[in-house]
Amino acid sequence: MEKNPVESTSCIFCKIASHEVETKIIFEDDLVVAFKAQNQIAPVHILVVPRKHYTNLNGLTQADEATYGRIVRVASELAAQKKIEDGWQLFVRVGKGGGQEVMHVHFHLVSGQHV
Ligand SMILES: [Zn+2]
Repeated sequence: MEKNPVESTSCIFCKIASHEVETKIIFEDDLVVAFKAQNQIAPVHILVVPRKHYTNLNGLTQADEATYGRIVRVASELAAQKKIEDGWQLFVRVGKGGGQEVMHVHFHLVSGQHV
């Protein structure tokens, strides 16, 4: 299984993070980018991704903790902004067997219906 290769020039989420592909970015900082999911599976469906390319969550090290801690905090803040504190989910799919479709780690922040 591929671990975390260098940023792929064909990776759609890297292109979004670098503004090469335009999309409505909801939040971004040095570590994290959040944007509306293309295929909405719920009334609120935001993808929160590391700015750096990671294929998936396999092989993380201590050096990655800041990034993934930031992702969870950004998700929490976005949930507050969207006023969905009463019910939301944050989930991530790992690998094709886990249902991952885009091979750049992305956390789904969803609310509004059971998924
Ligand atoms: Zn990428």
